[in-house]
Amino acid sequence: MNKWINNIRQVVPYTPGEQPKEKNIIKLNTNENPYPPSPEVQKTLAGFEADTLRLYPDPAVEGLISAIAENYSLKPEQVFVGVGSDDVLAMSFLTFFNSGKPVLFPDITYSFYDVWADLFGIPYRCVPLDDDFCIRSDDYRGDCGGIIFPNPNAPTGIELPQESVEKIVKDHPDVIVIVDEAYVDFGGTSALPLIEKYDNVLIVQTFSKSRSMAGMRIGFAMGNPALIKYLNDVKYSFNSYTMSRISIECGISAIRDRSYFEETCRRIIETREWAKKELAALGFEFGDSKANFIFVRHKSVPAEELYNALRKEHIYVRYFKKPRIDNCLRITIGTREEMEALFAFLRKYI
Ligand code: PMP
Repeated sequence: MNKWINNIRQVVPYTPGEQPKEKNIIKLNTNENPYPPSPEVQKTLAGFEADTLRLYPDPAVEGLISAIAENYSLKPEQVFVGVGSDDVLAMSFLTFFNSGKPVLFPDITYSFYDVWADLFGIPYRCVPLDDDFCIRSDDYRGDCGGIIFPNPNAPTGIELPQESVEKIVKDHPDVIVIVDEAYVDFGGTSALPLIEKYDNVLIVQTFSKSRSMAGMRIGFAMGNPALIKYLNDVKYSFNSYTMSRISIECGISAIRDRSYFEETCRRIIETREWAKKELAALGFEFGDSKANFIFVRHKSVPAEELYNALRKEHIYVRYFKKPRIDNCLRITIGTREEMEALFAFLRKYI
């Protein structure tokens, strides 16, 4: 047996959703946006000078940070950017969760949180959602090393009301509370105003969902300038050039096109609300999603069977074989036409 094996950092990695190679599929499995990015992004790409790639990008990412700050009426010192919110969240775990006490997050949530905790040796405790898959803020009371939860939660899509978010932040002045708002733009309420009132809250968002740029990898955090400085210190201790020149330029174009962003979000919300009615008529049960997906359970057909039947039809949805949710499917909201095709099949099958 090789002795070096004893010196390896061995981890159980996160499993991302499938990215099938086949063409002509209906892809409702990874919460991507069914609409293209803003036409301004296309223009920026078309005008991009390849010669500039000889040079390193701006390590401080000033242009993109200023554009994000302007969009949210913040100061640039209140904004941090990274390679997708996964990068921002990983940096945040590394920066903020160092007390040695367990970090709290829901038992049913984004399945990367426990992976980062294990990778960085951070102790954690999963706090069960209630029977309706809601977060109960009272369950987060007491001593801990920090708190993180998505709002709306994933994969449930259920939103925690702002009073409860504020209560959690206020109850824990001595630790950092991270609100992962990857899906907030689809009708949820952002906790962003809390960053002016509390110095221990960090809001994390992404360009991957509401700005249709999962392939570009842009995420950002907003918080008190002290928190942002600590995040930058860790970033510069790891990799100074996280954002490519292309991501920076395209990110600026995307965030400045507010009307396109608002219009595509509105269309997704409209399709989601219509999809809820169709799903209910077909015998599905689900919580009131405020995200670009719906987490459903059928009253008679098992989720795994449905997942496989849909797959055979080249319709991909997400199935998690995990305790409490192994009879549920997460269906990303596609275009109206993609959803029509899904429902046509479900009507026949069920
Ligand atoms: N948070 C949540 C809750 C998510 O579902 C995702 C998407 N997988 C992310 C963060 C990360 O998204 P990205 O890295 O594309 O910004």
